[in-house]
Amino acid sequence: MSYRLVPLHQRLANALSYGEFQLYYQPVVNVATAEIVGAEALCRWPQRDQSMAMPETFIAQAETSGFIIQLGDWVLRTAAEQMHRWQQTYQRRLRLAVNLSGRQFLHFNLVKQVEEALKASGFNANDLEFEITETIAMHNAEESIGVMRQLKSLGIGLSLDDFGTGYSSLSYLKRFPIDVLKIDKSFVRDIPEDANDLAIVSAIIAMAHALGLRVVAEGVETDAQWHFLRDCGTQLAQGYYFGRPLPASEFQDLLAREAGKPAAIAQAR
Ligand code: C2E
Ligand code: MG
Ligand code: MG
Repeated sequence: MSYRLVPLHQRLANALSYGEFQLYYQPVVNVATAEIVGAEALCRWPQRDQSMAMPETFIAQAETSGFIIQLGDWVLRTAAEQMHRWQQTYQRRLRLAVNLSGRQFLHFNLVKQVEEALKASGFNANDLEFEITETIAMHNAEESIGVMRQLKSLGIGLSLDDFGTGYSSLSYLKRFPIDVLKIDKSFVRDIPEDANDLAIVSAIIAMAHALGLRVVAEGVETDAQWHFLRDCGTQLAQGYYFGRPLPASEFQDLLAREAGKPAAIAQAR
């Protein structure tokens, strides 16, 4: 059978067993200093024709077929091992953000899988943050709170991803044991020209701070966006302005540059 005719769910399973998936790491920076404080792990799937399949083309299918449970386990283990090596090499604290899909989040075995991945990698739970979208969190809000509490009891941080694009209720926002709001890039894109976006972003930041939450602004691409966010008191940001998602070896070059050390000291796997 031609490769293209193999169903996607089968190709995904094959890709995992042949070690075809890759993780890219996008720097998360301190807005005041532009220093790297950690990274978000983002999944990539290189294709035979040299193109790169982006998560939007396969995560939904992986979610429908249930394959996301295995893929998510691989993502967490690989990213935690990698981040732990970087922490040891550069002797610094680096936080790791990992995305969780709805099915992963509500899977009965999640907490056990996470405990095992942390144990196997030696990565500290306090440096791990799971990102879930507000839509996932709200889907079954009471059950979500239970899962969040279990993850929090391990020491893991929680972020609401793509904040502002889904639906969330402010009363739940208060009850969810979360640490971070990630402002969706659609609100950052037209800063500083769009007065509505300026108002929305300022309001989200003020609300987050009033609730004791940290804010990560996503999709920062320009100097003007950076300055606006900094002046509003945003602590953390991510976006092409600071760094694109990079393969492990290139992210390591960034860390090495910050540390003033040659990259050859510790080769990424
Ligand atoms: P996300 O978690 O909101 O990730 C941020 C997305 O914004 C990434 O897209 C990133 O490449 C992109 N981005 C970062 N900075 C900029 C910028 O300055 N401008 C613009 N226009 N885009 C920027 P990506 O890597 O294509 O991932 C898309 C989504 O796929 C992620 O959104 C996340 O929901 C999902 N995803 C990625 N990796 C995983 C994974 O391992 N597991 C799960 N469950 N979902 C994943
Ligand atoms: Mg994310
Ligand atoms: Mg996002």
